[in-house]
Amino acid sequence: MRPAEKFLVELGISVPDDIDIDAIAYCAGAEVDYRKLVGCEAQIIGRKDKAIIYVQKNARQTRRRFSAAHELGHWHHHRGQSFVCRPEDIGRPIDQTSKNVERIADAYAADLILPRFMITPKLEALDEFSFHELIDLAGTFSASVTATAIRAVRMTREPVILVAHNLFGKRWQWPSVTAMGLSVRSDVDPRSTAFRMLSAEGKLVPPRKEPASYWFERRHIEQFDIRAQSMTTVEGESLTLLRIMDQELIDIYAH
Ligand SMILES: [Zn+2]
Repeated sequence: MRPAEKFLVELGISVPDDIDIDAIAYCAGAEVDYRKLVGCEAQIIGRKDKAIIYVQKNARQTRRRFSAAHELGHWHHHRGQSFVCRPEDIGRPIDQTSKNVERIADAYAADLILPRFMITPKLEALDEFSFHELIDLAGTFSASVTATAIRAVRMTREPVILVAHNLFGKRWQWPSVTAMGLSVRSDVDPRSTAFRMLSAEGKLVPPRKEPASYWFERRHIEQFDIRAQSMTTVEGESLTLLRIMDQELIDIYAH
């Protein structure tokens, strides 16, 4: 179990509703103060075994929660140091194996807000691995859909890839363990559901079948179809869940 999950267990927290970040912070010797901040999203000032965490009051609730948890990550891993975290430092969905202090704090925050031991049984109980279910799950954990979807994709054995686009192309992707080695093309195909969602704020469309060539740039890949479901995020990007329907596509192209 990772440090944040261990801490939850020590505190006797076993259900999502009890993940009260302010109370957890208090137990770690930190007080969270929500106030208007200029030029940063959150900060922590620590001294000996006490800390004060400031979090941007104007942010969305899921964002405030993640930011406070991110600062608790700094408190756990980088005790004795103070941090001023900009919006781009917190919750960046890129390589979680990075040793960058911000990524380490993010990983701690994700473990605290979306702990594996609570998510596992819920993932197993899902009827279908789709955004409809993941949006529900995000609500259960008071987390953003993006953070929840990344967590779920990294835990499932379904052959899926989560990919985010803006109009300039692919921003990032997370393949599940069974789709590892597949890389979505770096541009956004105007025929794809991802492209259409970029101009449809707040929308979610049902999964649909599309030629794999809309998503991958590989020789002869047009012989395969994939299923794609896209939605727009509050950041104005499109988030797509790609399901590989054919094991052969993975066997040929995943390397
Ligand atoms: Zn930080």
